[in-house]
Amino acid sequence: MTVRVIKHAGNPAMESVEDPSMTVYADAPPRWVTLPPNLGGERRAVQESWVGPCPCGRVHQVQHLSLGDDVHVAECAIVGGFAWYRPQQCTSCDRVLKMGHVVWLELSFKTNEYHRDGEVPEDESQGLFPFGVRCARKAVRR
Ligand SMILES: [Zn+2]
Ligand SMILES: [Zn+2]
Repeated sequence: MTVRVIKHAGNPAMESVEDPSMTVYADAPPRWVTLPPNLGGERRAVQESWVGPCPCGRVHQVQHLSLGDDVHVAECAIVGGFAWYRPQQCTSCDRVLKMGHVVWLELSFKTNEYHRDGEVPEDESQGLFPFGVRCARKAVRR
């Protein structure tokens, strides 16, 4: 049976959509999530869930859901909201990177090589690019 609920960030109790007087508790991640109207409002299947650093900027671990390659969501109890964020793709292999598994490398247009953040003189920098941990290691080894 599928139970549709309204989830408030940071609150384990959820209201049933069909019967608002009913409170639902779930310890497993949901299988479907409805996007907010400004993101299209469509229903998305949950692809993956994990616990990782929160995008709110304060250092704490939160639950993340992947709703596809273009939108991930994290539930932040500190801000009391859901953080809808666009996942980064690895510059080298195009793999979608999980929050907290992104390594930013700086590209020098002088050498056309990637370096660790801060190792490129400012007037030679093309900016920072996201990499997966393994690809980043490969990219800077040269
Ligand atoms: Zn947070
Ligand atoms: Zn990669």
